[in-house]
Amino acid sequence: MKLIAISLSNNCIKKPRCKFCYLKDKKENYDFWKLENSIRGAIEKHKPDTICFEYNGINLDILLDPWWNYTQSIKKKINLTMTTMPQVITDTFCGCIKSHGIEAISLSYDSEKIKDQIEWVDKAQIIKKYEIKLACNFLIEKIPMNIPAGILKFSDQLNLLTLKPPGKIKDKSLEILKMEIEQYKSILSVAVDNCLGIQLGLTKECGAGTDFIHINPDGTTDDCCFKEKCFFYKDNKSKEKNENKTYNKIAEANNMPEPMKTRYIAYMRLRWGNPEDEELKCQVGYAQEWADRFLEGIEYECSDIEGQRILKEIDLEFL
Ligand code: SF4
Ligand code: SF4
Repeated sequence: MKLIAISLSNNCIKKPRCKFCYLKDKKENYDFWKLENSIRGAIEKHKPDTICFEYNGINLDILLDPWWNYTQSIKKKINLTMTTMPQVITDTFCGCIKSHGIEAISLSYDSEKIKDQIEWVDKAQIIKKYEIKLACNFLIEKIPMNIPAGILKFSDQLNLLTLKPPGKIKDKSLEILKMEIEQYKSILSVAVDNCLGIQLGLTKECGAGTDFIHINPDGTTDDCCFKEKCFFYKDNKSKEKNENKTYNKIAEANNMPEPMKTRYIAYMRLRWGNPEDEELKCQVGYAQEWADRFLEGIEYECSDIEGQRILKEIDLEFL
């Protein structure tokens, strides 16, 4: 386990909230005592390298006082960091978090809300005055990203994030993104969130529940707040479900009628590797997802050009 992220409040000063806000449906109130129990348990269980406080701009003093007493006892073993937004950064804020052991801030740059880099750069300079390490959380909303010069100048690190839950990035855009990342790496340290890393081939799994967990203000724990709507999460779960199964068994478990069943099996074998090697290839995470697509009749719609070519080839024979 690398990271435990802790939401300090279900309230946020941003109005309107970000379109991807994970707090939208959450109504529970902050409860330090439950939170403390959860965090103590999570630290013992997961042994994180880093704790990241997510601060949304509400009641810093009320939230921090009990927290700091607790974190003082663990700060020697675990890096303490904070993710927050430019609106909350002041001298008082930076002085406060610095005196309480926060070593780094990830400052969000949300191109939808910040029309230019001026506010971000102003706040970055305040943070640097207090010798707090600064990363820019840059939300990728278009590719090429064209990251503003001020961000590159004042950040110690660039954290590239996707919208959540992530959609699939087109192959061509992925190639452009890879080239851009290499260019930025020659200027400063670049980190990529796992939702993006999985698409760039940097990680096999997104790490929800293994690399990181998320603790909510009421003390409940999530592997990822976006998982219910996330394609990659479902994909991973169906991969687990599909282990040691064959396409045939998956088709039967889904009560697939003929000729859909034959088309599905033929497609999976041809599309995802050696057609003879059903057992092995069935362990890819796509088996259940594609069974769902065939059952919904959206297999053409969901296929790329190569997939559609294969479907047409199969359908010449079976339909
Ligand atoms: S800053 Fe965070 S908590 Fe606030 S609206 Fe945006 S995503 Fe939600
Ligand atoms: S489940 Fe994984 S890929 Fe999906 S949003 Fe969460 S971390 Fe990202």
